[in-house]
Amino acid sequence: KEIMFYLGIDFGTSGARAVVIDEHKSILTQQECSFDTAENWLEQWREALFFLLEAISIDIRPKITRIAINGTSGTVLLCDRAGYPITAPLLYNDRVPDPILERLSAIAPSDHVVQSASSSLAKLLYWEQENQLSKAAYFLHQADWLAFLLHGQLGVTDYHNALKLGYDVEQLSYPQWLQNQPSFSILPQVFAPGTAIKKILPDLVNQFHFPTNCEVCTGTTDSIAAFIASGANQPGEAVTSLGSTLVLKLLSETPIQDYQSGIYSHRFGNLWLTGGASNTGGAVLKSFFTDEELRELSTKINPTQPTNLDYYPLLKSGERFPINDPNLSPKLTPRPDDDVIFLQGLLESIARIEAQGYQKLRELGATPLQQVYTAGGGAKNEVWRRIREEYLQVSVIASPQTDAAYGTAKLALHSS
Ligand code: ADP
Repeated sequence: KEIMFYLGIDFGTSGARAVVIDEHKSILTQQECSFDTAENWLEQWREALFFLLEAISIDIRPKITRIAINGTSGTVLLCDRAGYPITAPLLYNDRVPDPILERLSAIAPSDHVVQSASSSLAKLLYWEQENQLSKAAYFLHQADWLAFLLHGQLGVTDYHNALKLGYDVEQLSYPQWLQNQPSFSILPQVFAPGTAIKKILPDLVNQFHFPTNCEVCTGTTDSIAAFIASGANQPGEAVTSLGSTLVLKLLSETPIQDYQSGIYSHRFGNLWLTGGASNTGGAVLKSFFTDEELRELSTKINPTQPTNLDYYPLLKSGERFPINDPNLSPKLTPRPDDDVIFLQGLLESIARIEAQGYQKLRELGATPLQQVYTAGGGAKNEVWRRIREEYLQVSVIASPQTDAAYGTAKLALHSS
């Protein structure tokens, strides 16, 4: 039987990583490199891609039969007929100026996910206004262009990346209002994430010793890749990311959305991946305690004796999910003398907000919560995990895997 390996490559915010797995999802090798300047992004991405391919051992490369790449959501570029970029890319967190937002509200429905200064569609309209489109043959996401470097096929994307461009993931088509735009002709054709598109270029077979039948697949976004990595795959299973902010992702049998609260749904096989992001989270903990102190103090917490301190931990005013209130004030008082109790109150309050978040998704019609996986800096805090189980009333476990590159390798494995 032929041995087959699967390569996932993650282009994140600060660097790129590659993970190769076998058919049992066991990791064979992982490699990484970081981006060092905020200039020449396309050159850096290209170099990182080939650096990672080179870094994978020559014993492994000839057995890699499928490759998928994820990029950061909303990172886009324009290129010509041959795939040469004609502008610098716009990154996930770049924001277009206000007049573009007015254009957006004129062409797209008012409660649509594209109505944001950093959406992919906002960036397309920006380039249109800057008269860049006449030279452009293709509008691509970061992941699409990187896959092109491997298979040579332009004008192809996946429906995870395409959501913020306005693609209708329920109908599996571009909506009419988008098809009516003059720039529609340069938008990519949309496939399911992980669809095998084309065999890797013969030059790369020769250079890197990939097998001639190695296929390059459509990709996904970095946060969905991290979700796939967690192993959550049943309705009601969720991943909470306890990083600088609190991000909830839940698999639901029904799609839900609430534009005001920043809730929308990605298509995820036969299910829907929904969720929301709160401004509370680890950044507030970090403003009071070092990681060392967080560890030390947490071991002294007695989770069976709740503090009932009712905080709303925020760095500054303003919240979107689960409470949509741009003026919501942080609440961090009264502060007890004992830092152990103070930290316990903070952890309880964030857990309460997490539970409210899943409750909010439930109220909008999502499948009830069954199980929570956890990623991010707070995932290793055992006492917090126990506190969260009390609030969430389901079992909470740390994700065995959180690496987006691993999730993208799984995507390549399951592709057909
Ligand atoms: P980012 O969103 O910046 O990628 P990380 O996933 O790296 O964040 O998580 C960093 C956050 O984790 C910090 O804000 C820090 O306060 C928090 N953190 C670190 N250690 C602990 C701990 N033991 N308990 C709870 N939170 C922690």
